[in-house]
Amino acid sequence: MHRVLILGGTSEGAALADKLSADPDFIPITSLAGRTREPKDVQGLLRQGGFGGVEGLVKYLKLEKVFAVLDATHPFATQITKNAFFACQIAKIPLARLTRKPWVAETGDDWDNVENIEQAVASIPVGSRVFVTTGRQELEPYFKRDDIWTLVRVIDMPAKKLELGTGKFIAGRGPFSVEDEVDLMRDYEVDLLVSKNSGGQSSYGKIIAARRLGLPVIMVRAPELNLGTVVCYSLHEASDWLQGFLH
Ligand code: NAP
Repeated sequence: MHRVLILGGTSEGAALADKLSADPDFIPITSLAGRTREPKDVQGLLRQGGFGGVEGLVKYLKLEKVFAVLDATHPFATQITKNAFFACQIAKIPLARLTRKPWVAETGDDWDNVENIEQAVASIPVGSRVFVTTGRQELEPYFKRDDIWTLVRVIDMPAKKLELGTGKFIAGRGPFSVEDEVDLMRDYEVDLLVSKNSGGQSSYGKIIAARRLGLPVIMVRAPELNLGTVVCYSLHEASDWLQGFLH
């Protein structure tokens, strides 16, 4: 039985843990950063919290006798992806990235593609009612705009009251249906969506909803790391890649 470290925090990471736990050759260990108060259950082993940079991750890989690492973290989680790359090089352990292809605008989409959250916030027209789905960690730039109204969706409500100019926090964890996203945007009379271009299915509902409602989207491009890591775009590819080290 080979221990496979899955750097998780995504639906793809959880699905990979499911798949590997049914395979007699592997023991999946899912690692979560520990940001979400009550993370979803995963199959196999679970550990939580940072490793302590590259050095800490190298120590962990050796101590736990990890056979291979699958980095299934979110496309915007760049620090852990870089750390995994360098740690696996140092520990001489195979590494692949399980990730998603970015969404591509379709007929009916009205996207303004931007490079980062700061640019996204700067592009919001005065007086907008904005649905913000870019996560809890980068809200500061929005807070500085008192000329817009924001509906901010987060997984966990902030423990202490955060300074949100005018607007509202709502808690919710995907996947959300297109119908629910349409209703939400209508109920709050949202006229603009800000989203990360995360790819994948689980959060695509809001993009289809915006298309249906004819709403513009400020779309933040995923960072490109160009580390040269093997990239898998499906569970099947990830599993084939792992099997390749067995024989
Ligand atoms: P990040 O900026 O790339 O990483 C910051 C630090 O958090 C890392 O250096 C590492 O600490 C720790 N860390 C991150 N992911 C970890 C994991 N899976 N297991 C153990 N430690 C981890 O990460 P982030 O953007 O904050 O994302 C944190 C988690 O949320 C990831 O699991 C990611 O998949 C998930 N997530 C992120 C986003 C997003 O938009 N960024 C969206 C959805 C889900 P040490 O250096 O101490 O090891």
